[in-house]
Amino acid sequence: MTTPAIPDARVIGGEWIHRDGDHATLTITKCHNCGSTWFPPRDVCSSCASADTEETTTADHGIAYASTVVRIGPAAFRPPYVLAYVDISDVRVLAHVDALEALPPGTPVTLRVGPIGADENGEFSSYLVAETAGGAR
Ligand SMILES: [Zn+2]
Repeated sequence: MTTPAIPDARVIGGEWIHRDGDHATLTITKCHNCGSTWFPPRDVCSSCASADTEETTTADHGIAYASTVVRIGPAAFRPPYVLAYVDISDVRVLAHVDALEALPPGTPVTLRVGPIGADENGEFSSYLVAETAGGAR
């Protein structure tokens, strides 16, 4: 499916998203002091308060940890919609899912950019995940 282009100004979290064709990666923070990883990225570790951190980039794929269908939620997200926690490159990210049903835990997913909602100014997009075509990578 081809998604119409959405202006970058309408990409939520766009400063952390790196597009690579149909796939995407995210900027995360790794703490050198305690080893924690964080998304969204931050200057100071939220576990140990160390500023000895670095920004790095995730892979473009991960594994669903948990998922749910949101039937009552913000109108701009056009419920029902699917959310999942996905484990990507040692960080657990909450993401919209391009699916109609929740993902079983362990489902391989690919990170992409796509529409997640619409408001009075039109459609907006962000990172999202979709079940990886063909299963595990
Ligand atoms: Zn730390």
